[in-house]
Amino acid sequence: MKREGVLYILSAPSGAGKTTLCREIIDIFPHLRHSVSYTTRAPRPGEVHGKDYFFVSMDEFRRMIDADEFAEWAEVHGNCYGTSIRTLEENRAAGVDLILDIDIQGARQLQERYAGGVYIFILPPSFEELRRRLNRRSSDSDEVISRRINAAAGEIRESRWYDYIIVNDQFSRAVEELKSVIIAEQCRTARVLDAVSGIFSMD
Ligand code: 5GP
Repeated sequence: MKREGVLYILSAPSGAGKTTLCREIIDIFPHLRHSVSYTTRAPRPGEVHGKDYFFVSMDEFRRMIDADEFAEWAEVHGNCYGTSIRTLEENRAAGVDLILDIDIQGARQLQERYAGGVYIFILPPSFEELRRRLNRRSSDSDEVISRRINAAAGEIRESRWYDYIIVNDQFSRAVEELKSVIIAEQCRTARVLDAVSGIFSMD
């Protein structure tokens, strides 16, 4: 049964566990892929070019903006991040479902551009827990952590316009909830009607 790929857009304040959740869910659904973004941020230890991000210079990022190559882009915590139109179009046409791990500014831009995306917000159980998780992540400096916590309050307020909110208190439960959202979205009439109407001569 052939259908267009679905875009799952996940946003969260950093430290809510979104990246780990994305990895887990991609392991569960073989047809689901992580949309690799472009960024001007330096790679963290262990990050791989072309897998985690395409790490590019500010000049190259600016060139891509001018050439209209981004479906969305934003400055997040002092670095630029963007999703290329080509990544979205190629996967959509091939029927590949994509998970986009992007911030709220980018999600807003996509919402205006791509009808039919599924917008999911991941919340931490509390501010205290968010702080604890960011402190445990040794890769970021104290200054970066404070900046991220300050940004979180504003970001969390934006969760109201997303289609789904998942509270990542207990990781296994959050995975189950995200799995359920994806399964339910795959069964949406609008996504399967074309394919089944051919099989059952419903025209
Ligand atoms: P990190 O530097 O921790 O990998 O990501 C920082 C923030 O940038 C996260 O909130 C992440 O979701 C966001 N981000 C990653 N890729 C993109 C992108 O392509 N577009 C936008 N708008 N945000 C992104």
